[in-house]
Amino acid sequence: MGGATKIGRRGGQTPEVLGIEVDGQTRCVHYHTALDVVAIKMRCCGVYYACKDCHAALAGHAIAVWPRGEWGTRAVLCGACGAEMTIREYLDCESRCPSCGADFNPGCRKHWHFYFEGEEE
Ligand SMILES: [Zn+2]
Ligand SMILES: [Zn+2]
Ligand SMILES: [Zn+2]
Repeated sequence: MGGATKIGRRGGQTPEVLGIEVDGQTRCVHYHTALDVVAIKMRCCGVYYACKDCHAALAGHAIAVWPRGEWGTRAVLCGACGAEMTIREYLDCESRCPSCGADFNPGCRKHWHFYFEGEEE
């Protein structure tokens, strides 16, 4: 990679969210529609990333999924209001922020298995 990759940090608010070209609501170069305002704290390193692809590009290690027994951990951030949800709250929120009512991308559901231990078959 040359110097073209811009590593973004969502400024001004905590927690910090890492990713590539992260904006103020945690969108990144990979997911940047109006609804892509969720950041996820990675189980492997405890750092919020805008998405798994940002983690893959920047972290230098493999992603680890959150085991079911740890779904009470606050590990999901609403980029619209800055609220941190537990994983279970996020999975149960019907793609709507419980704090501010912002709509989340319902398509994220297809990616949950990258971050969270999968449903039993
Ligand atoms: Zn990590
Ligand atoms: Zn990304
Ligand atoms: Zn919110």
